[in-house]
Amino acid sequence: MNDGMVSYENFNNARPWWRTHIFTEIVTCRDGVGDLRKLLRERASRPFFIIDEILKPQRAFAPIFACEGKYVFDASYSEPRTRDVDRVVALLKNERGIPDAIVGVGGGASMDLAKAVSICLANPRPSAEYQGYGMDMERGPDIWVLPTLAGTGAEVTPIAVLRGPEKKLGINNDNVAPKVAVIDPALSAGAKKFNRFFSMMDCYFHHYEITHSKTSAPDAVLDSRDGVEIARSVLSQDLSEFDIDRAVDSAVASVLGGSSSIGGRVGVSHAISYGLSNASPHLPHSVAVAISMLACGDIYSDGGFDDTVKFLEINGLARPTGREYGIFESHIPGMTRTALGMEKLWLSHFGENWRDTVDEKFISDIYKRIVSA
Ligand SMILES: [Zn+2]
Repeated sequence: MNDGMVSYENFNNARPWWRTHIFTEIVTCRDGVGDLRKLLRERASRPFFIIDEILKPQRAFAPIFACEGKYVFDASYSEPRTRDVDRVVALLKNERGIPDAIVGVGGGASMDLAKAVSICLANPRPSAEYQGYGMDMERGPDIWVLPTLAGTGAEVTPIAVLRGPEKKLGINNDNVAPKVAVIDPALSAGAKKFNRFFSMMDCYFHHYEITHSKTSAPDAVLDSRDGVEIARSVLSQDLSEFDIDRAVDSAVASVLGGSSSIGGRVGVSHAISYGLSNASPHLPHSVAVAISMLACGDIYSDGGFDDTVKFLEINGLARPTGREYGIFESHIPGMTRTALGMEKLWLSHFGENWRDTVDEKFISDIYKRIVSA
């Protein structure tokens, strides 16, 4: 648990606060952009930046926008698309040359795009063909990340979530884990409240669901128990104003969210959220999980549902609905098929006999509650 051990004053000397073995070197610092550039000068000769265009007006990021080797990316679409990946890969292969480091600067989408570009540079097929699990893939250029939003855990996870022509699905491969994550909590100061709130909500959901998982590794569950406490304490406050102590806690919880998801597995709200995401391409992942949690009060009756309602109230936010994102009754059969396919997540929550509880009717009843909310 954080217990105030990590403050912004001592953040650059913070000791590892996670238990799960992670692939990523975590560099805690208080001059994110400056320290990133200094380290890159020492360790890479041809870095290439992938940066979220929303950061452009912020002075802190001007040195990166001034670099020639960069791709400015509109991350407002909820996940990077496979065609974004293929476009950057073609640009590097055909015009710019292969870099020795791909640096993702921004939230989960920018980091995931950097991860996917790196591995696709080293493998011949279009990115959509690598969405999935257990594929043998060569390692690409080193992946570096500079998160500007806490909560996604993307700074640590070996997953690059992509929206393909057919589905939203990650490239799940150890070779997409970042090699170095440079973390400065102050870099989220310019993020909108909506984004700071919902990315921490997703962090909370990850931790909460892993603490309920029957198939997660013990270390992952311990990391999640710490993470859920920290995320709960952050979200129990009004996040309207940026606050550096909360940002430190958020950064700590986010890394725990990444570490716990390496050995851990989320559960019901995430399974339901994938159906929603496939039905609505612009629905942000974190909002999809919140909508799902709000329809799972009977399953998550020991805190998950009540906390979600409370966090939204404290922050003066309305409960998000499927309708706002164009999700209606006609989507239920398709969403039900998608969710039913999330076998590992049902197994995680209900254990080996999950089929005794979960069937088409069980799932479509949840979606019925969502579309009528
Ligand atoms: Zn999530």
